Amino acid sequence: MSIIVQKYGGTSIGTIEKISLVADKVIAERNKGNEVVVVVSAMSGETNKLLDLAKCIDTDISGRELDVLVSTGEQITISLLTLSLIKKGHKAVSLTGSQAGIITDSSYNKARIKSINNSYIKKYLNDGNIVVVAGFQGVTVSGDITTLGRGGSDTSAVAISVALDAKECQIYTDVDGVYTTDPRISPDAKKIDNITTEEMLELSSQGSKVLQPRAVEFAGKYDVGIRVLSSFEEGSGTLIKKENDEEMEKAIISGIAFNKDEAQLTIRGVPDQPGIASLILGPIAEHNIDVDMIVQNVGEDGLANFTFTVPRNDFKTAMKSLEESSKKLKAKKVIGDNKIVKISMVGVGMRTHAGIASKMFAVLADNKINISMISTSEIKISVVTGEENLEIAVNVLHKAFELDKAH
Ligand code: ADP
Ligand code: ASP
Ligand code: MG
Repeated sequence: MSIIVQKYGGTSIGTIEKISLVADKVIAERNKGNEVVVVVSAMSGETNKLLDLAKCIDTDISGRELDVLVSTGEQITISLLTLSLIKKGHKAVSLTGSQAGIITDSSYNKARIKSINNSYIKKYLNDGNIVVVAGFQGVTVSGDITTLGRGGSDTSAVAISVALDAKECQIYTDVDGVYTTDPRISPDAKKIDNITTEEMLELSSQGSKVLQPRAVEFAGKYDVGIRVLSSFEEGSGTLIKKENDEEMEKAIISGIAFNKDEAQLTIRGVPDQPGIASLILGPIAEHNIDVDMIVQNVGEDGLANFTFTVPRNDFKTAMKSLEESSKKLKAKKVIGDNKIVKISMVGVGMRTHAGIASKMFAVLADNKINISMISTSEIKISVVTGEENLEIAVNVLHKAFELDKAH
């Protein structure tokens, strides 16, 4: 018997009717003669609702107690799906992250899985059960509940696939695969049949929320294939796996991702001297804020301007910290903008094809889209622009790089 891990996201289990349809899909897989482990998210909107409740008490709430709260969303869906499977005549059991042996570090709200003791899941599988595990959550060695960051059920599913040496990790969602860009932004987006973990990691890290980046990272590290499929339609979805020269068709650009969750900060007129970057970014890091893009330039007056991006949630704290640094450094000005978007083009073909960046900038310029920051890596080019440009920028780039043509 092979083990198949299936993960169902929030919209796929958003109502009792949908949970019943998911139960039918799980049973169909079981009837093929496979052992099935199902990982579920909370019902769509539930995690946000729980976060909003916490905010009614304190807008800045985080840490241990928040995880005790938000992990409950998944506890509801594991029991409902299990009840539905039992009602349909199958042996099934629900397990919380802790009961499933998912051990994490103690970084509440964004914990990392350290290990999975697969003996609990295996015991129930050996007894003939379909095992339903709560995604997004784990437990520390000292028994405290943790959660894995938004979208974390994807990571739970991939990690469980690794721990059980599963044949396949199937991620069921509300789209029928990974597209060249978010189909909600571009009607021309095309489904991709195969994509490398390397490219998918870059796309999801740059904002394609179809998979949590850590899930892709895990899959790459342990060489597990992930298939993204629709919960509502039949189809072969998108297979994400390590690069295989013979099988994988190589596109120069695979997709366009965007991230609306960042904000941009600039400090102008700081003395251009050694150590200045660390004087500016040190206090930001002390607040545990991740800095993404950084640009520094020096004007004719010998003074430097320094611009960087941070998660939008951290904008206020970062601005406060930068204003304090500004006083100490006698800088001329601090400017913040939280209405920006980062747009990234990703493709392994960039390694071997020159001129992608210049074409990207020319296309944006032709459409009067101003760029405030640029960063590149081997297989990615990112630009920052005003949020109002998002749709037009993605669509003109999608067309210019012929992503709307058959893949
Ligand atoms: P789930 O609740 O099933 O985890 P998510 O909302 O997290 O679902 O992820 C699915 C969504 O990801 C889609 O509805 C789509 O809008 C969005 N998305 C963003 N980028 C892409 C992409 N490149 N391909 C497919 N979907 C994408
Ligand atoms: N329920 C969690 C969230 O909304 C985890 C997930 O859906 O993967 O982020
Ligand atoms: Mg998701």
